[in-house]
Amino acid sequence: MEVRVSIPLKDFYNGHSTEFQLEKQMICEECEGTGSADGQVDTCHACHGHGVQIKKHQLAPGIFQQVQVACDHCGGQGKTIKHKCPVCAGSRVVRKVQTHQLVIERGTPKGKRIVYENEADESPDWVAGDLQVTLTEKEANLEEDNELKVDGTFFRRKGDHLYWKELLSLREAWMGDWSRNLTHLDGHVVQLGRKRGETVQPNHIERVAGEGMPKWHEDGDSVYHTTQFGDLIVEYFVVLPDQMEKGMEKDFWAMWEKWRKKHGVDLQKDSGRPAVNVGNGGKDEL
Ligand SMILES: [Zn+2]
Ligand SMILES: [Zn+2]
Repeated sequence: MEVRVSIPLKDFYNGHSTEFQLEKQMICEECEGTGSADGQVDTCHACHGHGVQIKKHQLAPGIFQQVQVACDHCGGQGKTIKHKCPVCAGSRVVRKVQTHQLVIERGTPKGKRIVYENEADESPDWVAGDLQVTLTEKEANLEEDNELKVDGTFFRRKGDHLYWKELLSLREAWMGDWSRNLTHLDGHVVQLGRKRGETVQPNHIERVAGEGMPKWHEDGDSVYHTTQFGDLIVEYFVVLPDQMEKGMEKDFWAMWEKWRKKHGVDLQKDSGRPAVNVGNGGKDEL
């Protein structure tokens, strides 16, 4: 028997003890799996307990074929019950919801399988198999899962590393002098930032060592073992303003005009590309 259980990222990070419920087939406790209200089970008189009957078919005059079929009196069970158990109606099993404990250790990998021995469907006719639980990561939900308002809820996990996208304004990316406090999955704060004059290029990748996922280890965090962590990988996105107050636009323009004449770089000239259109017979396609 296999089930999937979805766990939020923070439980993979911090470790968590929870429980889940599952409906399964169980041996009826009322009749102890006999199906009988008074405990009495009789051997079927039609098949003498074999569960099968031999039937003769006449194929042609004098020619018979013997066929073995399931006994229709006892349904192939070989036994009959006069007073059926009121709980399972004689079927010997019932469906019940069962609660299982689930312990998620720090850094447990996605897709990990946990085996509950002999916890699959029960029957008086067989030994119950194992229940196998596969852990999957639950999609982050802003309203339900983030009462602590941790940014970490929206980290993406790849193996032992965590990924985060951070937005910077044009001024921040270019001139520096900014800081961000990211709230990690256990509530501790990771600071990002630059001093004045430190530029961040768009799509720059920054690696914050040790701020990723805990690496799972059988000894956990104990006297035998100290938990190691992967990295937090931050990618920066720069947002340019698409609207500016008129006065501000004028100021910026004037400033550019002043400084580009002195120190400006002409990327068109430096690129080595021809300065005028060639080819196309001099026609401009636009
Ligand atoms: Zn029978
Ligand atoms: Zn019963």
